[in-house]
Amino acid sequence: MSKENKSIHEFDFKLICEYFSYLERQGPGSPEATLKALSFIEGLTDESKTADLGCGTGGQTMVLAEHIPGKITGIDLFPEFIDLFNANAKKKNFQDRVKGVVGSMEELPFQKETLDLIWAEGAIYNMGFERGLNEWREFLKTGGYLAVSEASWFTTKRPSEIETFWKDSYAEIDNISNKLAQMEKSGYIPVAAFILPENCWTEHFYVPQVKAREDFLKKHAGNKTAEDFIANEKHEAQLYEKYKDYYGYVFYIGKKF
Ligand code: SAH
Repeated sequence: MSKENKSIHEFDFKLICEYFSYLERQGPGSPEATLKALSFIEGLTDESKTADLGCGTGGQTMVLAEHIPGKITGIDLFPEFIDLFNANAKKKNFQDRVKGVVGSMEELPFQKETLDLIWAEGAIYNMGFERGLNEWREFLKTGGYLAVSEASWFTTKRPSEIETFWKDSYAEIDNISNKLAQMEKSGYIPVAAFILPENCWTEHFYVPQVKAREDFLKKHAGNKTAEDFIANEKHEAQLYEKYKDYYGYVFYIGKKF
């Protein structure tokens, strides 16, 4: 990558971060879905250690913190998100047991076999589902849990427009039964899997973006990169509306054995 391209790339990331920092969540989900996934997890205590990978600004992390004991570390690549994460933790008075750290899910800053729970909502795709399951497993204690939401097909046949879209954006999208088989193969007992309800995409993700898009475009009027990015986000929301019977996010909960 040339120096010039690199700086354009960095600028893009800055814009994307700014846009998503307007929102409480950076991916589809809801407090109800977080709590439903949490209901399958047992045995956490004040000594427990949880990691929320690709935590963003911590929408789901604060929900977790309200309901589980022990320490929670949020990890995200973007310092802007981690600053907002730590400000949110402070606002809720969780700063003594909830900490956001800038880092990569591909190089976790934990000792092996020390975590009781690994959480990742709408984030494991960044390194790929199978790779994430395999590499993160080493950091869990035996009997520890993994809870991740992941794009999945609901049907075995789909219209080509949506098939092509996903092939280009995340080719690892797969049927639920295949994802469960991957969990088993990676050394987890599949404890539960459930489809995130539609409001996780609409009410909690795409609807708040309507206002965010307006504010963002006003602020960056005439900026082609910003306009293209917004057009892309809009297109994604339209595709969801058109093809939501065929795909969505599924929460997968596994236990390390
Ligand atoms: N869990 C949050 C954010 C989901 S968006 C929510 O559900 O609202 C995906 C997040 O993964 C973004 O915040 C992005 O910055 C982060 N991310 C992308 N690549 C990453 C990496 N390699 N390591 C850690 N975080 C990463």
